[in-house]
Amino acid sequence: MKLLTYSTAVDAAEKAFDIIKDGIKNGSIRTLGLATGGTPLKFYQKFRESGLDVSQVSTVNLDEYVGLSAEDENSYHYYMNSELFSHMNFKESFLPNGMAEDLEAECLHYESVLQKHPVDVQILGIGENGHIGFNEPGTSFDSLTHVVELTESTREANRRFFEKEEDVPTHAVSMGIQSIMAAKKIILLAFGGNKAKAVKQMMEGNVDESCPASILQKHSDVVILADTDAASLLQAISK
Ligand code: PGA
Repeated sequence: MKLLTYSTAVDAAEKAFDIIKDGIKNGSIRTLGLATGGTPLKFYQKFRESGLDVSQVSTVNLDEYVGLSAEDENSYHYYMNSELFSHMNFKESFLPNGMAEDLEAECLHYESVLQKHPVDVQILGIGENGHIGFNEPGTSFDSLTHVVELTESTREANRRFFEKEEDVPTHAVSMGIQSIMAAKKIILLAFGGNKAKAVKQMMEGNVDESCPASILQKHSDVVILADTDAASLLQAISK
């Protein structure tokens, strides 16, 4: 794992965008894996302001809440449309359908989308509990796209986006850990002191399902772009 630290999240987002831009321009990125949440917002801002031609690029997203439609402001369809897709000319964009009547069939369908569109670079965030996508602690490292029950910690962390606590969905459809690990390259963004423990466990802890992100130690091409707060507990940094 390669770690790069920056004094601000904006600087880290710029670096992430530079890597993506180069890959899109030289044709090595045909499918881009995308994430939602607070972490990639600056990255998306840079992306949409760039006017980059992405007409040859497909996107796949990590996850979607169960029960929220694309028109729901809290859905990840809505988030992606407003932050990025409506500003850009991507060839096609895929997200899991959290409104599917048969969610198990939707998971299989999404895996077939991933097979057809192998991810060249995956953008990832990390949860305070070490989750990647919505793969909560305890999720099998062999998991493919699946329906997950969100932990209290994740629901609490995402509470800020919803009006009422009971509006926060309890379930999501998420790419599995094996599906995420299939990406050729992974760029993980981590900002803020609330992520410091998870970053430390991911990089310096045992590779263990209690910290889903720790599996990234086994991936051959991971770049972690962190701000100084998120990297503050790492031994290499504090020494
Ligand atoms: P956040 O979420 O970007 O909203 O902090 C990251 C994650 O849960 O993966």
